[in-house]
This record gives sequence, C-alpha cells and structure tokens, in this order.
Amino acid sequence: MASTSASGKQPLNPLDLFDIRAELSDEERMVQDSVARFVDEKVLPLMRDAFENHYFPQDLIPQVAELGLLGSSIEGYDCAGLNSICYGLICQELERGDSGLRSFVSVQSSLVMFPIHAYGSEEQKNRWLPAMARGEAIGCFGLTEPHGGSDPGNMKTRAKKDGDDWVINGSKMWITNGSVADAALVWAMTEEGLRGFIVEKDMPGFTAQEIENKFSLRASVTAALFFDNVRVPAASVLPGVVGLKGPLSCLTQARYGIAWGVIGAAQACLNEVLNYSRERVLFGRPLSHNQAIQLRLADMARRITTAQLLALQLGRLKEKGRLSPTQVSVAKWNNCRAALDIARDARDILGASGISAEYVPVRHMLNLESVITYEGTETVHQLVVGKELTGINAF
Ligand SMILES: Cc1cc2nc3c(=O)[nH]c(=O)nc-3n(C[C@H](O)[C@H](O)[C@H](O)COP(=O)(O)OP(=O)(O)OC[C@H]3O[C@@H](n4cnc5c(N)ncnc54)[C@H](O)[C@@H]3O)c2cc1C
Repeated sequence: MASTSASGKQPLNPLDLFDIRAELSDEERMVQDSVARFVDEKVLPLMRDAFENHYFPQDLIPQVAELGLLGSSIEGYDCAGLNSICYGLICQELERGDSGLRSFVSVQSSLVMFPIHAYGSEEQKNRWLPAMARGEAIGCFGLTEPHGGSDPGNMKTRAKKDGDDWVINGSKMWITNGSVADAALVWAMTEEGLRGFIVEKDMPGFTAQEIENKFSLRASVTAALFFDNVRVPAASVLPGVVGLKGPLSCLTQARYGIAWGVIGAAQACLNEVLNYSRERVLFGRPLSHNQAIQLRLADMARRITTAQLLALQLGRLKEKGRLSPTQVSVAKWNNCRAALDIARDARDILGASGISAEYVPVRHMLNLESVITYEGTETVHQLVVGKELTGINAF
C-alpha cells in the first residue's frame, strides 16, 4: 500500500503520515483495532447494498452494542467507560465503513445517552442507559424544526404544564433514528425556558414519519416527528438543565465525534484512489506516474494529516476538561470540509467508475454532504469562530 521510501527507511503509511497511531496508548490501539476488524468483516460487506437500497442495517445494532460502542464514554450503567480518544477512534473506524453507521452511534451515545447521564434523574439513568448500551432501546434527538435548524433559539415546539404532566405540541425535522427510536429526547420551549423531555414511542399523539428519497446517508434512518397534545409525566423531564446550553452541550459531544469520524471516510477515499491510480494505465503509464495526479494525492494526504492532528489535540483537551466549543467548531468545520473535498476529488480521479457504488468515494461524498450540514452547517461553525475572534455575534 505504501510507496517506496526515498531514504530507504520504512515507508510512511499514506493514511497516517505523522504516525498518530504511535501516539495512542495500548488500550486506544486495541479499541481501534477491534472496531477496524468489525468494520472490515461485518460492516463493509453490507454497506453498499444498504446505501443502494436505502435502509439502515439493523442487524449491526447488537454487534456494536456487544463491542461496547454505545455510550462508550459513560462510566457505570453497563457502559464501557472509555476515554475521549477511544470515542474518536470508534467514530473514525465506523465512518470508514459508512457515515450512516457512525451517525447511529453518535446519536445514541452523544445526543441521547450523554444528556440522560449528564442531566437525567437517577430513575431515568437506570431505566434508559443500560438498555441503550445493550442496543435494546434506541434513542433519537429532536432539536431541528422545519423552519430552520441553525436557529434553535427560535423554537416553536412548546411544552405546557398541566397538573403534574406536560403537554407537548409541535414538530421536528431531519431526525436521525426518528422512526426506529423507542425514546425521543425532545427539546421544547416552556415558560421556564428550553427543556428536554423523554418522549416514548407509544405515547398517544406522538408520530414519526420516515423521510424517503434521500440521496445522502441512505444507510441511516431520518424522520420527521410530530407532537399533537402528547402528555408526558413529570418524571420524563430532564431535571438537570434548562436553556439552550442543554442541547448545545450535547452537540459539542457529537461534533467532537464527527471531527474524528470524517477522517475515516477520507481515508477510505484516499485508499481507494491510491490503488486505482496504480492500476489504471493511460497514455502508456499508470495514472499515479502523472504529476497532476500525485499533486492531488499529496493534497489528500496533507488534509488527512491536518485533520488527524486537530482531532488528536482536541481529544487531549477534552480529556483534560479544557475543550471549548469554538475549538470543536474549528475541527468540525476543517475536518468535514477536508473529507468532502477529498471524496469529491477521489470520485473525479476514478473517472466514470467514480459514479459507481462499486467504488466507495461517491457513497462517502454523498454522505458527507449531510455530515457537513448537520450538527451545525459549515457557515454556522465559521460564525462561531468569528464570534470568538471579534466578540461580535454575527448570526
Ligand atoms: C441526514 C440528516 C440527519 C440529521 N439528524 C438530525 C438529528 O438527529 N437531530 C436534529 O435535531 N437535527 C438533525 N439534522 C438537522 C441538521 O442539524 C440541520 O439540517 C442543520 O442544523 C441545518 O438546519 P437547516 O437544514 O434547517 O438549514 P437552515 O438553518 O435553514 O440553513 C440554511 C442555510 O443558511 C445558512 N445560514 C444559517 N444561518 C445563517 C447566518 N446567520 N448567516 C449566513 N448563513 C446562514 C446555513 O449555513 C445553510 O447554508 C439532520 C440533518 C440531516 C441532513
């Protein structure tokens, strides 16, 4: 796979030019290896069909649960209690398979289990976390509404107190896992401010409708949620948080995972195109012998390396409890942009074959169009950084 080294030393790994792997602890390497093996053996053989036929391969759920990948950063409640670098590596390897599977794990872990663990009552934690870690209960996270996801403060979904209960009215859009979830973590405006509610799938007045005909994240379930006078008991409100900081803190966790995850998609594209350009012979020589092709391959490797270094430092800051949401925005923005550009360029180097699902770049490219949009669009992250630099809110 690696090219011949000019110095005669061990050639560099083109997918890890700066040897990030050597920076990892034994445990982190072990986690990466076991997820990589799972992706190679169990995920990749399914993904092309799942993407082409627009379904999420649910058989993978017990397997990711068995590997301890659901809520992996949580300690206790039958969760694995792994560190932040491990969570990043899990996302990276899963997304090397497909962004849809990584999205499933991100939503379950960072957007549902994290807030239940951080803000839930002991009863909520005991009821949901072990079941979610085992993959027996699926969660979804309802923040985005049809009128505009970038501005969650302008939330129209309302929850009103009625005796001891709450009554929810409104709708949510583009919700990953929405129509397969047992519990929807729904953010709704109340008289006290924004609050999180655990809405169960069979509660009267709650419906979920799958969004069909997507050209991106086809191996992931996305749905619209509707709340028509849904009555939830007081025990279903997250007691520990009021206000936008609730959902935003979840997004920081998930965006952290995305910053790592997209590296896997980019590596899969570079790997494919390295092999292809060695074998494809045009004008009497392999494509890889052309300067113009080498420039493009080198640029992909440079971008992957930059993304890896950002992700690793982000993980170290997170481990020290010094992670700022602005740093996460820089990494989500940079790494998604890098991965999408790599996927698009890899698709082009494959020529006509690049539009075939037989090769991975077009699937990753289409998926990454969602990944660069969800959890804050590229523009939203740029504005977060602009605000940090100038002190001025330009949203
Ligand atoms: C496949 C998929 C899965 C998703 N899963 C979930 C989920 O599980 N839960 C959930 O809650 N949401 C989910 N989302 C929704 C996602 O988070 C939103 O799509 C995203 O936040 C953007 O919101 P929007 O689509 O309404 O676009 P809008 O907010 O309407 O933005 C439209 C455009 O305007 C730009 N823009 C916005 N504000 C400004 C500004 N101030 N200045 C300049 N430009 C601006 C944006 O960058 C964008 O280009 C998912 C989306 C997709 C595609």
